[in-house]
Amino acid sequence: MKPKQKPNADYIKNSLNPLDFYNHELPNARIKRDGWNDGGLCPFHVDKAIGSFRINITTGAFKCFACGESGSDIIAFTMALHGLHFMDALAHLADDWGLI
Ligand SMILES: [Zn+2]
Repeated sequence: MKPKQKPNADYIKNSLNPLDFYNHELPNARIKRDGWNDGGLCPFHVDKAIGSFRINITTGAFKCFACGESGSDIIAFTMALHGLHFMDALAHLADDWGLI
């Protein structure tokens, strides 16, 4: 039996542009430039007004100034959004984006 290939964090981060990722995950985001942008409605709390959720399309970091959810990259975003552990988040991203 062949060992199952484990998703690799560096490979996923290098293959998946935060801009493409957030355009897909956050259709309400208003991305205008490199770095920090308006992420639209926060997916981590019941958000009724745009303005408190920010995403960084250069690094993949995200932060909500209303509920306090934050993370440093798209893997952290996936973990928080789906309640996954690190390796499961990698597998989820690899699956979603066909990276393995
Ligand atoms: Zn929030």
